[in-house]
Amino acid sequence: MKLRFWREQLQLANTWTIARGSTDVFEVVMVELTDGDGVSGIGEAAPIRRYHENPATVEDFLKRLDPKQLSFADVSGSMDHLASLSNGDMAAKCALNIALVDGAAKLAGKPVHDYFGLGFRENHHVTSFSIGIDKPNVIHRKVLEAEQYPVLKLKVGVPDDHAIMTALRSVAPKKAVRVDANEGWKTKEEALERLQWLASDGHIQFVEQPMPQQTPVRDLVWLKERSPLPLLADESYHSAADLAHCAECFHGVNVKLVKTGGVSAGYAALKAARDAGLKTMIGCMIETSVLISAAAHLAELCDFLDVDGNILTTNDPYAGVTAKRGILSFNEAMAKTGLRVTRVAAEAASDGKSGSRVVENV
Ligand SMILES: [Mg+2]
Repeated sequence: MKLRFWREQLQLANTWTIARGSTDVFEVVMVELTDGDGVSGIGEAAPIRRYHENPATVEDFLKRLDPKQLSFADVSGSMDHLASLSNGDMAAKCALNIALVDGAAKLAGKPVHDYFGLGFRENHHVTSFSIGIDKPNVIHRKVLEAEQYPVLKLKVGVPDDHAIMTALRSVAPKKAVRVDANEGWKTKEEALERLQWLASDGHIQFVEQPMPQQTPVRDLVWLKERSPLPLLADESYHSAADLAHCAECFHGVNVKLVKTGGVSAGYAALKAARDAGLKTMIGCMIETSVLISAAAHLAELCDFLDVDGNILTTNDPYAGVTAKRGILSFNEAMAKTGLRVTRVAAEAASDGKSGSRVVENV
């Protein structure tokens, strides 16, 4: 097996701000695995700074790796090998897992959703469109621009929460909204007060991660018992191993592939949560259509989808699943097997001039 990897700089249509900080450009690391027969799989890491990962930590892991230990014929054994190399590096492991599953599904002649035995209903799955934290006049414009999307996800968790919500409602009075506090409310009393205020809106579906991950269980249980809205764990749910904690403290979970370490672990995390009676959601970071399509292949395991990271960028180098009016579809995907993703931008340059130098590890 041969491994190539390179960075892509994703330009954001709007400066992206959440409770933790802001950015205009988001760097991801792409990986490509090619076997001796020329079958290749593509994957992507969108490293999460919250978990101390960045493009350099992803590349360090990839440089240390012996790709000969990986095989499309044994995805699970390949993942066991990757797990043995370090405890973290979830973004790098995610990229490699997606590439392995892409290759394995291509060899099986199936799209990834059928490789997992899930299927995929067209005209059924709807993604929300995310609105980052901003000044009220910018929120106003962003919500107008997002008119085609039937569900919005609003980032809050700052002192200005009321102004943000008021700006949204001034242009979309009754649209369904999901709220993500990104651990922004620091006490259970503050969280409850905000939840009661949000519930009075009448069109809020749920609230994601109201309080910090390290909040004592007794405070989270206190909040769950009183919350007028369903609470979903994001920063508190990394993989199926966090299930018992989240079942006690939340009504549902948000799984992201870069957080769980790939589409195989994402499948396991969603399945475990569903089997425990929790609501399930698949989310994303700022990503290309590679990660977004990988997530979309797990749609049948999800009550809610938030896979809009590619729509928030202006230079996605790939095409795969589409989301017109928020409805996920693979009908326009040229590739029929694997991730069903194709490159639409020029190939990443290997001369080092484009800032996306290709590294080969064979
Ligand atoms: Mg979240």
